[in-house]
Amino acid sequence: MSDMKDLKLVVAGAGGRMGRALIQSIDAIPGVVLVGAFDRPGAASIGADAGQLAGLSANGVIVTDDPGAALGGADGVLDFTAPEATVALARRASTAGLVHIIGTTGCSDEDEAAIRDAAAGARIVKSGNMSLGVNLLAVLVEDAARALEAADWDIEVLEMHHRHKVDAPSGTALLLGQAAAHGRAIDLAEKSVRVRDGHTGARPEGTIGFATLRGGSVVGEHTVLIAGEGETIELTHKATDRAIFARGAVKAALWASRQQPGLYSMIDVLGLKS
Ligand code: NAP
Repeated sequence: MSDMKDLKLVVAGAGGRMGRALIQSIDAIPGVVLVGAFDRPGAASIGADAGQLAGLSANGVIVTDDPGAALGGADGVLDFTAPEATVALARRASTAGLVHIIGTTGCSDEDEAAIRDAAAGARIVKSGNMSLGVNLLAVLVEDAARALEAADWDIEVLEMHHRHKVDAPSGTALLLGQAAAHGRAIDLAEKSVRVRDGHTGARPEGTIGFATLRGGSVVGEHTVLIAGEGETIELTHKATDRAIFARGAVKAALWASRQQPGLYSMIDVLGLKS
């Protein structure tokens, strides 16, 4: 049963893996209500009832291919889609002063700049991972990287995801790499090694390496290895259910509705800033 004061949310990419999980979480969490859903023009979900699409009972919200129509009267939008769609949506959210929760990964530097600009008018929370566990892990990784000197300890980020994932390394792997780079006070873009192949030579000191595995239905597994002479530390997170990301996104929307326009992270939402 919805309340007049419930936060009115729209789900972008409603027919996607995360889109369906978001519809389920909005249904399960008090204080929010689904008022719209849209998907890419031509998507199989267009015209479907959003509740039924997510395996719930019908809720009367019909999936449209028109973001403007879906967003009419809404307070915010939950967006786990694709970079191009996310940038366009951020511009709409900015004009309308909406809450925009961005889980989309694989954004380019230009996309990130456009999203930053949109935060002048929108309340944006963007994170490569919306789960409490991964954000806590990021804080631990930053502390460990600060404590363990680059001359003696090598940092590698290993991740595995399902076979349908289209970007690599994952947004979460990059988030964890960024946390390590913060701890070491280095620029991740300068120090990351994203691929190794052939005769690479010895590992350059102070770099942060990434390794990507893809296969099956794995929701998301990440390990930060910190390897020293004679000992290795492994910090691991395993996601077994997309609901952790969806619940985090709904929590972020409720939090962002109480903030000024700006660009925030899940670390802000969860109060994990050290
Ligand atoms: P998915 O199943 O492919 O879902 C993406 C959905 O967005 C699809 O329904 C897709 O439609 C739709 N879409 C694409 N372009 C669109 C557009 N222009 N307008 C409206 N809808 C559009 O993928 P997923 O596994 O749910 O993942 C989606 C994104 O979330 C990825 O970037 C993934 O890495 C990220 N993710 C983030 C987190 C986190 O916690 N931050 C967690 C999990 C996943 P079509 O299928 O018709 O193209």
